[in-house]
Amino acid sequence: MSILNFKEIFESHKSIEFQDIPESVKHDIPEPSEIFNEKPSLKCKVCNKELLDDENKGIIISWQRLRTDYENEPQYFEHIFWTCKGNCDKALSKHIRESTKDLIDSWAEIRDVMMPTVFLKWVMSIFNELHGGTIYSKEAFEELKTFLINVYPFTCRHLTDKENDRMNMLKMNPQYHGGFA
Ligand SMILES: [Zn+2]
Repeated sequence: MSILNFKEIFESHKSIEFQDIPESVKHDIPEPSEIFNEKPSLKCKVCNKELLDDENKGIIISWQRLRTDYENEPQYFEHIFWTCKGNCDKALSKHIRESTKDLIDSWAEIRDVMMPTVFLKWVMSIFNELHGGTIYSKEAFEELKTFLINVYPFTCRHLTDKENDRMNMLKMNPQYHGGFA
């Protein structure tokens, strides 16, 4: 895989690229960093199976409103879901297609977003989309944040002992002094 350069990531105004990455660049699921108290978890919205394990075959699916006027109509994401790839994904798609006619879906493999370069590209794309007027429904926005928070530990490192001490201090510092209290 070619490493993305900063410029490419920073200036990406394109929507998140939901596309398959060739099999040759896929790798095993990395160990998540222990940055949160709880283990990261994304459970299939259909069968409730944990998607962040070694057998990871999960996908994230976004449903956005169909547009006729790309100039004047903003991109509008109605739903964000994650499911097993295959039957669960098909069952959910069928259900949504039956209940609404004006949404189109796109998807990406969760294990692809676990790659630090892809993760950063997603974050930058979302920033750029929001700046460009893209709208997320309240539900889709909350789901997107839940997704990114739970995938993030797979892309980053553990805190050092010194950083852990510093974190404990930051938790007590007020926000206007750079803390989180
Ligand atoms: Zn499932």
